[in-house]
Amino acid sequence: MKSQVHDLWDRQHLWHPYTSTINPLPTYCVQDAHGVEISLVDGRKLIDGMSSWWCVIHGYNNPRLNAAAKAQIDRMSHVMFGGFTHEPAIELGKRLLSVAPPSMYNIFYADSGSVAVEVAMKMAIQAAISVSGNHGKSNFATIRSGYHGDTWNAMSVCDPVTGMHGAFGSALPVRYFVPQPRSRFDGEWNAEDIAPVEQLFKEHADDIAAFILEPIVQGAGGMWFYHPEYLRQLRRLCDEYGILLVFDEIATGFWRTGKMFAWEHAGVEPDIMCIGKGLTAGYLTMSAVLTTRAVADDISRGEAGVLMHGPTFMANPLACAIACESFDMLAEQDMASRLQHIESRLRHGLAPAAALDNVTDVRVIGSIGVVEVDRQVDVGEFQRRCVDAGVWIRPFGRNVYLMPPYIINDEQLDVLTAATVELVKELPR
Ligand code: PMP
Repeated sequence: MKSQVHDLWDRQHLWHPYTSTINPLPTYCVQDAHGVEISLVDGRKLIDGMSSWWCVIHGYNNPRLNAAAKAQIDRMSHVMFGGFTHEPAIELGKRLLSVAPPSMYNIFYADSGSVAVEVAMKMAIQAAISVSGNHGKSNFATIRSGYHGDTWNAMSVCDPVTGMHGAFGSALPVRYFVPQPRSRFDGEWNAEDIAPVEQLFKEHADDIAAFILEPIVQGAGGMWFYHPEYLRQLRRLCDEYGILLVFDEIATGFWRTGKMFAWEHAGVEPDIMCIGKGLTAGYLTMSAVLTTRAVADDISRGEAGVLMHGPTFMANPLACAIACESFDMLAEQDMASRLQHIESRLRHGLAPAAALDNVTDVRVIGSIGVVEVDRQVDVGEFQRRCVDAGVWIRPFGRNVYLMPPYIINDEQLDVLTAATVELVKELPR
């Protein structure tokens, strides 16, 4: 009863992501969540296969993270970063630089993944104009099927077909798109993948400040894993043509792909890097943009003399304190082995899906397992069946995928993979 009342009010008044107000997708009211289990108000329990959009890396209600949050609340939840600094921000910064690509030197704390992308794009433009003296060097290039967030400029570099371009007509800035690299992460490298980038740079290097992309794994744009050689070739071309390279590691960071950050698969360092999601282990919204000393100094030598951004909640101490604790938890464990284990278990568990006639591909990297099917999945209907099966999976487009918290045990993981195979088998043909 309580659940139904909640549900009606919610349906009438609350906007959920990407859902119609006239005919909203169903929602399930959550009572609490512990570890890898989410409990609904009606008593049902679900094994979480999503890490709440990939950020709850240590599971829910972690005692150490809770304690870190409570200790920080008793000191201060927030204080402005303009003119003040504080230990949680400094401590987090030190931890970040200890694991970031060696060339990263300056850190800008931002509010969310999308805002980190906005900040990275602003950094790139300010640096590019400062170095070149060319105010027209302010556009961006990217690969198709990317996803970088829902704010204005982040949207403009999302895939023009599957992203949000259509809904905003001519309001979005027009970017340069090259085809998605088709060489698979674990397959042969095909040099033709990079040819369109060289062609683009030859023609337009003067208007392009930066090339932005998600390294190795494209997330919400299609869950595609591409060959590390693409990044090595891209780095070479960016250097040759004077274009900055921005890695959006918001989804790939914090071990999601089996490495602390995905750049490590290619050994290629970006000029600017965005991180978010797992940064605070899903406790609070916070992101960071890291860059080299050269880029930061170029911005500082530019006309404005400063980076033009400074949000209210910059370096929020509560978020920083939780992030520090999460970092320490990661550092204390052998995460590489943990992720190898999850990867092989996902691979084994999802393998039977490859034999299904509606499945076009099955791929796994780190703790990401994807079953790609031959048509769009009806999310509302799929989730209804997930909840009946005691699992929480939210597909998008033609991808049914798993991204569980790293603390998941083998039994829970096997339930998730078996449910995925079964639910995909039952999809309407
Ligand atoms: N970049 C990437 C690669 C992402 O996956 C996401 C979120 N799915 C974002 C940016 C945007 O992050 P947020 O939702 O925190 O704004």
